[in-house]
Amino acid sequence: MTGKRAYRRRHRRLKPWAVGLLVLLVVGLAAGGAFFLKGMSGNKAPEGENTGGQQSGQDQQLDATVPDSGQDGDGESETDSQGESDGQTETGGTPAGYTIQTMTEADIGIGGQILVSNEHKYTFPEGAEDDLVAIIDAKSSSYTVNLYETMALPETVEHLNAMLDDYVAQGGQTDVMVVSGYRTYDFQQGLFDRSAARNGLEHAQRFVAQAGGSEHHTGYAVDLYSTNQGDYLECTGEYAWIGEHCQDYGFILRYTTEKEEFTKIGPESWHFRYIGFPHAQIIVENGFCLEEYIDYLRQFPFDGDHLWYTLNGTEYEIYFVEGLEVPVPESGEYTVSGNNVDGFIVTVTH
Ligand SMILES: [Zn+2]
Repeated sequence: MTGKRAYRRRHRRLKPWAVGLLVLLVVGLAAGGAFFLKGMSGNKAPEGENTGGQQSGQDQQLDATVPDSGQDGDGESETDSQGESDGQTETGGTPAGYTIQTMTEADIGIGGQILVSNEHKYTFPEGAEDDLVAIIDAKSSSYTVNLYETMALPETVEHLNAMLDDYVAQGGQTDVMVVSGYRTYDFQQGLFDRSAARNGLEHAQRFVAQAGGSEHHTGYAVDLYSTNQGDYLECTGEYAWIGEHCQDYGFILRYTTEKEEFTKIGPESWHFRYIGFPHAQIIVENGFCLEEYIDYLRQFPFDGDHLWYTLNGTEYEIYFVEGLEVPVPESGEYTVSGNNVDGFIVTVTH
């Protein structure tokens, strides 16, 4: 049992942040120890040791500190050096209670909070299409879908169902139709080319994402249409409710007039992106677009203050990790999503 714990700890100590902490703590303890010895004066540390015998004096102080800081009850059979590190892992602050999840470069492009745009193209992870479902097989009776083969991710359909069920329950009609879900790279290329041929390249560049740059590649986006009006949803009049409440179901209106300078895509009041909880609420409350939100989360790195948000009595903790070594809670409920730029967004549910 002790051996198992010791192994786990040794494994943990190998992580770069742990090594960094170790160095910091050793330096800190050494400095503190020297100061302590100086302060005590006379008895334990004669003046002469501060010059000639300083090194050994520090070592002794370090060893003496170990049993005090490592009060976790399992250090007895370990060597002094292991005991030292145990103490630091336990008392070093943030890493306690976390473990490192090592991700791959490809993982940066996967997850509910990825930013996909012409600047940050989608990378089509292998097997991602296997997760898609036909909307017609998973949808509720509150809306329709244009084709048997219109697909999306299950979580997108699940929350679309909840949103449009509530829309109908509060007096909306069942004339909303999903007219676009998942798109392949080639499909998007065709859309762009046809738009450019019909309306000119400038128009296509403003209103149609390039192949690889469309959120429709992810399975998290749907375009809604009104069969009564014979047009894409405007989110005005009877449909205003959908635009006003979509964040309560994890969706955002991705392209708005106000944010075109960031999104580089013209307004689309029919394009809904599922981004999850409580991200959609935070985005809407702060008046962000997704580009701004991804930047905003950089203010909450793992080793700094985290972003806390309470939604319907559930407390969420969010932090950003740049790179591939992602600290995650050792236990409890959490998600890790790439941001499709340079790192990962961890969302912990408390
Ligand atoms: Zn769309």
